[in-house]
Amino acid sequence: MERTTCCVVGGGPAGMVLGLLLARAGVEVTVLEKHGDFLRDFRGDTVHPSTLRLLDDLGLAERFAALPQRHVHSVQLPIGRDGDLFTVGDISSLPGKYNYVAMVPQWDLLDLLADEAKREPTFQLRMNTEVTSFLMERGRVTGVRYRDRVSGSTGELRATLTVACDGRGSLARVLPELGLREFPCPMDVWWFRLPREERDPRGLVGNAGERYLTAMIDRGDYWQCAALIPKGADDAWRAQPLDQFLASFAEATPWIRQGVADREPRPRSWDEVKLLDVRMDRLRRWHRPGLLCIGDAAHAMSPVFGIGINLAVEDAVAAARHLA
Ligand SMILES: Cc1cc2nc3c(=O)[nH]c(=O)nc-3n(C[C@H](O)[C@H](O)[C@H](O)COP(=O)(O)OP(=O)(O)OC[C@H]3O[C@@H](n4cnc5c(N)ncnc54)[C@H](O)[C@@H]3O)c2cc1C
Repeated sequence: MERTTCCVVGGGPAGMVLGLLLARAGVEVTVLEKHGDFLRDFRGDTVHPSTLRLLDDLGLAERFAALPQRHVHSVQLPIGRDGDLFTVGDISSLPGKYNYVAMVPQWDLLDLLADEAKREPTFQLRMNTEVTSFLMERGRVTGVRYRDRVSGSTGELRATLTVACDGRGSLARVLPELGLREFPCPMDVWWFRLPREERDPRGLVGNAGERYLTAMIDRGDYWQCAALIPKGADDAWRAQPLDQFLASFAEATPWIRQGVADREPRPRSWDEVKLLDVRMDRLRRWHRPGLLCIGDAAHAMSPVFGIGINLAVEDAVAAARHLA
């Protein structure tokens, strides 16, 4: 029978930070991640000052700074007929050196955390390992059942504590005593990329058009674009020709309006426009005997202000301090 002290389900920001901190404290910890790598497009890439300071405290500032990234200091909105950009948020006046949001591909951040954690002898990361259910004994969670997604083999891992860091589709959410509470949310988000040109504005630019509220995040040579659509409208709205959507997106973006058709490579198929089904919910209780839930597993966040990663990381820090 396999055994560990702490079994972490899911190697996202919450799971990897928790794994690293517990391992550094000498706790035996095994992180089970169902995917074979951390590569996901359009996940939370916004690393806020609180997380930057944490990485610095952990001695990872230099390695983090070497990752491909863009720094966002301000939020701008177009105002008036000609859409002149007006700065509505400027965090460059925050005290300290981390007065920006770093836009870093989430997989690079997770790779960095995994590399660092693997230096600790008490840390184990098992990729391609999907947790399928919890082991229960007399009302207590005593570990997990898992399936190796490559070989198809199954197994059981016993643990003193299991921490669900498996995101908003968490297995823990079906446990009735944790009581998932959902909040109404009027929107979903379409994510896609457009090429960015040097003459474009910098930072995070919000826009309000006839049909879409939009946000564009400066990623260097491309814009990570978000169009807010009414909740549940995805299927019906995808029936329109893609170019029609791009044209109406550009309508909300005065400085790009003339040229969206000239920007290459622009999306050619609806497959390149990803849907984020926005959910806001949280568990009434984040724990039960043998089990703790943190990050999106405990509270799925609105994408507004890009706080999801950072709150997941804060949960992990708070949990690790208590548990270690
Ligand atoms: C499309 C999209 C865009 C987003 N944009 C932003 C943004 O711009 N800024 C921001 O801050 N936040 C954003 N978020 C939210 C942000 O990604 C999350 O809040 C954050 O990643 C939560 O971290 P987590 O570790 O709790 O969960 P997750 O990042 O969801 O990680 C969960 C991990 O668990 C693994 N897993 C799931 N089930 C199992 C299982 N049964 N067994 C083993 N492993 C499992 C998953 O593969 C995943 O790696 C976005 C989310 C999505 C979906």
